[in-house]
Amino acid sequence: MTAALAPHDRARPLTKGSTYPARDLCSQCGLCDSRWVAYVRRACAFLEQRFEAMEDEAHGRSRNLDDENELYFGVQQRMLTARLRQPIEGAQWTGIVSRIGVRALESGLVDAVLCVGQSEDDRFTPVPRLARTSAEVLAARVNKPTLSPNLEVLEQLPGSGIRRLLAIGVGCQIQALRAVQATLPLDQLYVLGLPCVDNVSRQGLQTFLESASASPATVVHYEFMQDFRIHFRHEDGHQETVPFFGLDTPALKDVFAPSCLSCFDYTNAGADLVVGYMGATFGRQWLTVRNDRGADLLALVEDELDTAPVSSRGDRRQAVQQGIDAYDKALRLPMWLAELVGFVVQRFGPQGLEYGRFSIDSHFTRNALWLRRHHPAMAERHIPAFAERIVSRYRLPAS
Ligand code: FAD
Ligand code: SF4
Ligand code: SF4
Repeated sequence: MTAALAPHDRARPLTKGSTYPARDLCSQCGLCDSRWVAYVRRACAFLEQRFEAMEDEAHGRSRNLDDENELYFGVQQRMLTARLRQPIEGAQWTGIVSRIGVRALESGLVDAVLCVGQSEDDRFTPVPRLARTSAEVLAARVNKPTLSPNLEVLEQLPGSGIRRLLAIGVGCQIQALRAVQATLPLDQLYVLGLPCVDNVSRQGLQTFLESASASPATVVHYEFMQDFRIHFRHEDGHQETVPFFGLDTPALKDVFAPSCLSCFDYTNAGADLVVGYMGATFGRQWLTVRNDRGADLLALVEDELDTAPVSSRGDRRQAVQQGIDAYDKALRLPMWLAELVGFVVQRFGPQGLEYGRFSIDSHFTRNALWLRRHHPAMAERHIPAFAERIVSRYRLPAS
């Protein structure tokens, strides 16, 4: 894959933080902290959107906009839900991602796994690394729910002996990685994607935890789950759950990073295999195989999984429209009403793929509105065709 122009031949890497051309929209994906910053103009997800070209190059075709599953969840060969029969203790869900990383190393499929460990001082501060052993992959399990400069470790590739790499990452990181893939000193690249929305800086995370949890200092893990509640796990093992509808929307309106308020790559369009939870029923993980490399990754662990077909229930559309209006007015419900709405939505609301579509619709409409209000000059070219089609199904407040 190495191209003649490859910047890894340069003698000296750049100094971290020297330039971030996306400015306030930068998601700190790490590309600009490597010598591959040379490609930033066409690689940065916030300077140029190239979903169709990326899908073509990675999967051999772009998504079929007339197929509802592809419109929402991207190019696919197969979707399924799964759980590891023997979950990995301390993983975000059951640990399918970490188990694939371990098996990819053990089987010799790859020489290293790009994953995200945590800082020694702070469990929520991400430290990207190239893991060469199963223990290193396992040590990187569980989300660090903050912007992570994954691509800074590209800097370590030249001279490392790594020729086959499994990269784990979220959409903006993978868009930039795909754009420079042909220039990397690699023979093979596998991409295991995570869905991602509403990411935050470390400071933003603190604001969120202080607003949403009764004991922000002891939270070790949290997730927005399919039962419309945020589940916090604390140091002593106890669980705290808070209904989505009880969040202090006015206080949290500005907590998400501007990159994430302008992002439409929720389901990680460029990955070979995506592992999240949003299209699965409560407690299960949701997997989308986009191409043959994704099928190879899934095959590494499939006999360790309890799998089931995807399913769908309910109709999200009215709830999405009501959510758009409530968000725009920054309404905060009293907790008793939030609990009641949460109970009703959980019993009768969208489940499975329909929950996934509920979440995509809610985030794409919010982000389209945010972009039109804050970056009107770039909104038209930045919103990809698939997102535009989804957003056009709803009535948005004036921008
Ligand atoms: P584990 O085996 O615990 O492995 C987790 C992996 O995540 C590790 O390999 C680690 O390298 C990687 N990682 C940790 N932090 C980061 C980071 N900041 N950036 C990139 N990689 C990281 N799924 C959904 O369905 N809907 C969502 O809205 C959603 N939002 C997410 C937001 C973030 C910031 C992240 C990191 C993930 C999100 N996911 C979302 C994915 C989901 O929470 C789980 O990570 C996924 O289902 C895998 O679970 P697991 O138990 O298999 O992972
Ligand atoms: Fe550079 Fe990544 Fe920031 Fe874009 S998002 S400016 S590529 S670090
Ligand atoms: Fe990147 Fe989008 Fe996730 Fe923000 S929401 S970290 S921009 S993939």
